[in-house]
Amino acid sequence: MRIGIYGGSFNPIHKGHTQLAASIVEQGLVDELWLMVSPLNPLKQASTSDIAEFEHRLKMAELATQGIEGVKVSDFERHLPLPSYTITTLGELQKAYPEHEFVLVIGADNWERFPRWYHADEIIERYQILIYWRPGCEIDESSLPASVKMVDTPLYDVSSTQIRDSVKNGRMMRRWLDEKVARYIKRHQLYL
Ligand code: ATP
Repeated sequence: MRIGIYGGSFNPIHKGHTQLAASIVEQGLVDELWLMVSPLNPLKQASTSDIAEFEHRLKMAELATQGIEGVKVSDFERHLPLPSYTITTLGELQKAYPEHEFVLVIGADNWERFPRWYHADEIIERYQILIYWRPGCEIDESSLPASVKMVDTPLYDVSSTQIRDSVKNGRMMRRWLDEKVARYIKRHQLYL
């Protein structure tokens, strides 16, 4: 199978994440999309202090993706040494599942920062990359390497940062949250 790997902190997962994941599968770009919940994002750890524990983020991702065809949540990075760089994750996935082909799925915002990623050239050489549009990002499609392709998905105007801020301010943005995730955040008193 062709598996898309969609990584992030998912702190917390919101409908921008899940609707995008569903759209990529529905368009037949991959057979399955695995949400790879990151134990620690090497580029984010310095700036985000309100990061919920891995187990909470994983559980919320599972709740939010229940019943979405072809979209799975993976805790694969839990078993890898920290920090878990994408090139390592992809290599270990390929070893663990030699029968699958792994494709990286990232946002245009991440593509703009991609040269800073650990072993970026090697990722491009070895794997296909699907890039979805993010607001305010400009990418010249004619300049992309052969293994990199833009995909057409709707734009969702939401971020986990906005959700966390809304919880902190006592007005949780429920419109962008799965109901079960909203209840989970309340029950566990996350992001206060
Ligand atoms: P934060 O606000 O904490 O930085 P985030 O909402 O950007 O979080 P991440 O966990 O960093 O969420 O997201 C994982 C991946 O999902 C990233 O590659 C990011 O580009 C993408 N993503 C985030 N928000 C959206 C959205 N609204 N629509 C589509 N993709 C998104």
